[in-house]
Amino acid sequence: MNEGKKRVAFYTLGCKLNFSETSTIARQFAEMGYERVSPESEADVYVINTCSVTEHADKKCRQTIRKFIGKSPNAMVAVVGCYAQLKPEEIAQIEGVDLVLGAADKFNLPHLLGNGGKKSNVKIYSCDIDTLTDFFPAYSTGDRTRSFLKVQDGCDYHCSYCTIPLARGKSRNYPIDKIVEQAEAITYQNVKEIVLTGVNIGDFGKSTGESFLELIKRLDGVKGIERYRISSIEPNLITPEIVDFVAASSKFLPHFHIPLQSGSNRILALMRRRYNRELFAERIALIRSKMPDTFFGVDVIVGFPGETDDDFMDAYRFIEMVRPSFLHIFPFSERSNTPAAKFDGKIHPSAIKKRLSMLSELSEKLHIDFYKSFLGQVRPVLVESARRGELMLGFTDNYIKVSLPYNANLAGRVVGVKLLEVSNKGYVKGQVPQNVSAEKL
Ligand code: SF4
Repeated sequence: MNEGKKRVAFYTLGCKLNFSETSTIARQFAEMGYERVSPESEADVYVINTCSVTEHADKKCRQTIRKFIGKSPNAMVAVVGCYAQLKPEEIAQIEGVDLVLGAADKFNLPHLLGNGGKKSNVKIYSCDIDTLTDFFPAYSTGDRTRSFLKVQDGCDYHCSYCTIPLARGKSRNYPIDKIVEQAEAITYQNVKEIVLTGVNIGDFGKSTGESFLELIKRLDGVKGIERYRISSIEPNLITPEIVDFVAASSKFLPHFHIPLQSGSNRILALMRRRYNRELFAERIALIRSKMPDTFFGVDVIVGFPGETDDDFMDAYRFIEMVRPSFLHIFPFSERSNTPAAKFDGKIHPSAIKKRLSMLSELSEKLHIDFYKSFLGQVRPVLVESARRGELMLGFTDNYIKVSLPYNANLAGRVVGVKLLEVSNKGYVKGQVPQNVSAEKL
């Protein structure tokens, strides 16, 4: 511990966008002379970056806030993030919270802290989300393998179940020139891979008159970054031009995370999504035709109001037919400030549980099948650092998690790895064949 310096600890809940924003707030604290410590350590200030995507997320935030207050009752506790924007009063009622900062003020936190000491009264800084037009840039640091770069914020879509536009505001972005500067700054951290993050990144460019395609073309030219992943993109915004560019690029990887949410057109319409399943299947087929080895991660919500057993089975069969590589499955969560909260046809928890379990089984099978189909191949893996003697882990270009025997020389490098066998721990055992470098792949 550094005597004399104030210590600050961060705890992040939710998505990669939150992680990139926490990292940026942490750099602001470092510039002000704070020492960053782990959330398990004693700190003078705790910053909790919250998520509010579901009811369960809200509950987890409250538990986390109470845990830190219980552990260090004399520390200053500041709460930021989506939950803080949506329900500041609810958070302020938790005894021991000092500051609650909404979307416009979270990057002002180090200045609003004052002397960093415990306050006698909780203070709320909240904004009217409709007036928020500023874009606050952010990227994550600290992981020497990859960085999450925020390229876009907010969303103009109005999916009937989603509370995120109310927490993050309208779709907006930084100009491409500025984002390229951020990517260049990331190269100084010796990071090889950037994951582009945002709320609705395919919508990039709305506030600057640019486009997502222009953005990825410019980022492709940044020297020092070897790999890019596109975190999640709405199916209707994946254009043939984007697919062609990614297919031709040696840096943008064959990995797409695409929200489907339901495989039933009736439910997609109730969700007010901007596509039907035919368009979804067509985009997957297009990507596969140009990049056959692509990993597809797909989000699905089960138990949406009105989803009958027939709708669910219709969706299930559609997913089986499309064969994504992995499913991120979420039970429907009612958010009081959304239209779906008033929809009829609530689904019984036991039916939701059964549907979740059926899709989890399907996802596991699809994931293993995807892994197995690449056994015997040599693929480029960005190797993450590990403690001496431990297994080293990393991901192939097409997002296969790979383990390797410990070899300190490999950390932070992209190397060719032969995929040997699917382990029961969710990864593929690999080996670096002699005389194979990633450049030859
Ligand atoms: S696209 Fe729909 S689900 Fe995604 S953030 Fe926007 S409103 Fe929410």
